[in-house]
Amino acid sequence: MSNTLKLFYRRKPYNAAETDALFLRAKQENLRHHTEKCPEYAALLSSRGFSPEQLRDSSDLYKIPPIPTLYLKRHPMYSVPKKRLLMSTSSSGTSGNAVSVNGFDLTTAIRGAGMLARLMLAHKMLSLRPTNYIVLGYEPSRHNKTAVAKFVYSITFTAPGIHREYALRDTGQSYELNIDGLVSALVKYEKQGLPVRILGLPAYFKFLLEELKSRGIRLKLHPKSLVLLGGGWKQFFTERLEKPELYALTQEVLGIGETRIKEYFSAVEHPVPIEDCANHHFHVPIYSRVIIRDPVTLLPVADGTPGLLNLLTPLMNTMPFTSILTDDLAVLHSGQSCGCGNAAPWFEVLGRVGLADIKTCSADASELLTDLSAGAK
Ligand SMILES: [Zn+2]
Repeated sequence: MSNTLKLFYRRKPYNAAETDALFLRAKQENLRHHTEKCPEYAALLSSRGFSPEQLRDSSDLYKIPPIPTLYLKRHPMYSVPKKRLLMSTSSSGTSGNAVSVNGFDLTTAIRGAGMLARLMLAHKMLSLRPTNYIVLGYEPSRHNKTAVAKFVYSITFTAPGIHREYALRDTGQSYELNIDGLVSALVKYEKQGLPVRILGLPAYFKFLLEELKSRGIRLKLHPKSLVLLGGGWKQFFTERLEKPELYALTQEVLGIGETRIKEYFSAVEHPVPIEDCANHHFHVPIYSRVIIRDPVTLLPVADGTPGLLNLLTPLMNTMPFTSILTDDLAVLHSGQSCGCGNAAPWFEVLGRVGLADIKTCSADASELLTDLSAGAK
């Protein structure tokens, strides 16, 4: 069995320290595969003065050149023939016109299945109770290939689904907003007395809560109900509610407590769903490593210092997403500082740099960082 497969089928998904050596071997295998099968990626690495042989120790991981997601959106690279792709997903492209595409082949899907099973067990996501779903996103259809739509739809199989109501209903040609449908589904779900799982972007969830509140609706959903939010606030960043306010509003309108509200972090180029802990922190699972980089020098910064979020995983076989540089500004903290009992380091997303900024990693990013650091003090 390859080291990569061993990593993705390990029993404990947060034992980072014990898996350092295994992660390194998996990363070496993954780099070797991509450089052998994707000449464009090999050329890119050597143009940055890096060769896979330089990765000898865990402390060398930062040397793998981090590739900005914007570059990957504009220059898709493949390490397998396209006919081997089982499915492809794409990002929504909300922050610009560039769209990321991510293809899965059988090898990637097998790794992903092991990882998802372990993560879902660790986070107690699987349930046998019949459940109703509210999906604050697109109804799956032929004309929607976004990763988010596919991922969220797969979550509606974590507990047996009785009914699914979508915020954006497929009309056959396009989508229509389905607010009334969501409201009446929730009222019906409360009467049925079954757990409800609400999935989607935090902004859409906030808008739903406000809509219910403005209509004078107060519900008491089943105590095993679950709210699963992902994708961040994106273009709604200025309208974001701080977590405590969002939790209070959820309790008031839906009768769902804070412990039943979960958030996950993921990216098309790094499709590892990182779910928050009881203290709502994103601990890094064993399948990934997180490096925070100075936006100007791109060198790693110390824990506690804000910088650009760099994600590494050996998950992908199809495309060389070995070390990707997101346009998120984040801070990494030691596992112990959380207090939930999970010893894996955790990160906090502070905001997002505009695409124009990340292209040049310009002074704008460092200005924003200075502001954020000042705000954090
Ligand atoms: Zn924690």
